[in-house]
Amino acid sequence: MTTLKIEDLHVSVANKEILKGVNLTVNTGEMHAIMGPNGTGKSTLSQAIMGHPAYTITQGRILLDGKDLADMTVDERARAGLFLAMQYPSEIQGVTNAEFMRAAVNARRPEDDQIDLMTFIKDLDEKREFLSMSKEMAGRYLNEGFSGGEKKRNEILQMMMIKPQIAILDEIDSGLDIDALKVVSRGVNSMRGANFATLMITHYQRLLDYIVPDFVHVMMGGRVVKTGGPELAKKLEAEGYAGLRDELGLDI
Ligand code: ADP
Ligand code: MG
Ligand code: MG
Repeated sequence: MTTLKIEDLHVSVANKEILKGVNLTVNTGEMHAIMGPNGTGKSTLSQAIMGHPAYTITQGRILLDGKDLADMTVDERARAGLFLAMQYPSEIQGVTNAEFMRAAVNARRPEDDQIDLMTFIKDLDEKREFLSMSKEMAGRYLNEGFSGGEKKRNEILQMMMIKPQIAILDEIDSGLDIDALKVVSRGVNSMRGANFATLMITHYQRLLDYIVPDFVHVMMGGRVVKTGGPELAKKLEAEGYAGLRDELGLDI
């Protein structure tokens, strides 16, 4: 089992404290969702986990199987099994989608056991078809000219190819039509198992009808203020964040 443990995490961006003591534990075998109003620090949390240099940890720590992520580079984190599908995936010129994925897959394998091209292509074709993606997408430059929905689908393809232990999916549902949402959900659900965990960040309960989480966490004011099961997301949908604010007596 792999465990990601976030302890009393405080993170500042541009000298402003955004995360104010986040506690969260994610074990492989579990599906977690994080909900919360805009600007509450959900993307900040995902960037801090992956080690984006703009996000400074001022207090607390993030442990991956007991190892402090602060001592690991971004590459080392990825090799250790962490994966982030960003809210706004960037375009990379000159690197094709397939090249990028092959390099990422190989980075997680020992030097003397790199994936051979045929095996890689076979795996890629299978997963691409599973996600109803065109063959042509693999040969295109990474995210260049991809529509919003194509970018999201592509993030899921990358995740399925790289097979991380812990995948953080930041608004993987934003901008998707219902068919694309079903495809993306099918991809995430196909990863379920003892060696996989996800932390899905979403604004909408709808995603959680397709990818049913074990735990739902609500972030407000830079903290996890409530944790529950799928019913918590339904309650939020019905009552809004204002209802929860009142219930918890929060002034944020
Ligand atoms: P969420 O994902 O919950 O909507 P974010 O983590 O994106 O929230 O943002 C939380 C706060 O941090 C916002 O006030 C946002 O403006 C600020 N913030 C996030 N990233 C940066 C950045 N790179 N530079 C400056 N401010 C940032
Ligand atoms: Mg946001
Ligand atoms: Mg965000």
